[in-house]
Amino acid sequence: MRIGVPRETAPGERRVALVPDSVARLRKAGHDLLVERGAGAAAGFTDDAYATAGAELTTDAIAPADLVARVQPPAPEEAGRMREGASLVAFLNPAGSRPLLEALARRNVTAYAMELVPRTTKAQSMDALSSQATVAGYKAVLLGASLLPRFLPMLTTAAGTIAPARAFVVGAGVAGLQAIATARRLGAIVSAFDVRPVVKEQVQSLGAAFVEVEAVAAEGQGGYAKELAADQQRRVEEALARHIRDMDLVVTTAQIPGRPAPRIVTDAMLASMRPGSVVVDLAAESGGNCEGTVPGETVQRHGVSVMGPANLPASLPYHASQMYSRNIQTFIEYAVKDGALAFTADDPIAGPMCVVHGGAVRAGS
Ligand code: NAD
Repeated sequence: MRIGVPRETAPGERRVALVPDSVARLRKAGHDLLVERGAGAAAGFTDDAYATAGAELTTDAIAPADLVARVQPPAPEEAGRMREGASLVAFLNPAGSRPLLEALARRNVTAYAMELVPRTTKAQSMDALSSQATVAGYKAVLLGASLLPRFLPMLTTAAGTIAPARAFVVGAGVAGLQAIATARRLGAIVSAFDVRPVVKEQVQSLGAAFVEVEAVAAEGQGGYAKELAADQQRRVEEALARHIRDMDLVVTTAQIPGRPAPRIVTDAMLASMRPGSVVVDLAAESGGNCEGTVPGETVQRHGVSVMGPANLPASLPYHASQMYSRNIQTFIEYAVKDGALAFTADDPIAGPMCVVHGGAVRAGS
């Protein structure tokens, strides 16, 4: 099979879908790899490294490919250049990109959305939402720390003793747990809250305190959160209002699949915080956990910096690409049978991921 790796063209995207290590492994499995010149440059992977790994460097890795591997969805022009009957694997934002999916269907492309890798043990090594959330959780703490006017760790120096900063993480999923671990490594006193009580032990095992709110539990299907009932919401708000006013750094990561991000940090909470404190809102692109978050910007509210970073994984492109590449490589190794990617609807992994096949957008996309 000819696997194409184009250079990403979305603004600000610095990742690449396959890194040279994956190229070498897929070559060994008998595939031809077509890599667009410069595809890995922004992530730190040179054309020479791809050539050494066995790739053919090209000016067009889309039109000749049987399978195109990308990070971001293709631009319309790129979708139009795909070979009829070829396959595509990428983040496709399936709920919000109907025109793209219809364009792919018109070209009879079979498209797999990396957002839809099932959260099962078998598919764990293909789970790009998790790998990229790990990057985002780590980077969120570094961004927040770099804006804070204080140290995170406790320091005992000849110039006096510095008290450690207090960091609070809201939402202890994949990104949140990585944010907790990172803030701990930097020496902050860390606490966390999640509506799923099962994460309490994971939070504590990372050395953070779990903020308890009486009678709040909102675990829905598949281990995800669901929306809180009104009385639970009120209890959470009261408890977090008491907690947040003493925090220096707040990282919010709360999401509910298929819903706008829950509003957790209110304007009144921001007003109660010390001037110079920082909120990093990782849910900025899905509506924001913090009142007043502006996606892609840092705004000041009541003397608090509210950061709404967009596409954080692209800001750490070397390792984000390495992890994403392993996810894609594992999917290809899993889905290719007898040298070709033949779609079967009842496959437990490829089935749920497939959003376009047979000239049609599949139901639920
Ligand atoms: P996510 O990005 O959907 O949400 C992040 C966190 O926000 C979740 O922990 C959620 O409970 C929390 N949250 C939602 N509303 C909240 C609120 N109002 N206040 C506070 N917190 C709130 O989650 P995710 O990181 O994608 O992980 C979701 C689940 O999937 C977890 O149970 C995780 O362990 C599981 N998971 C399983 C696998 C696997 O088995 N392969 C892989 C990754 C994640």
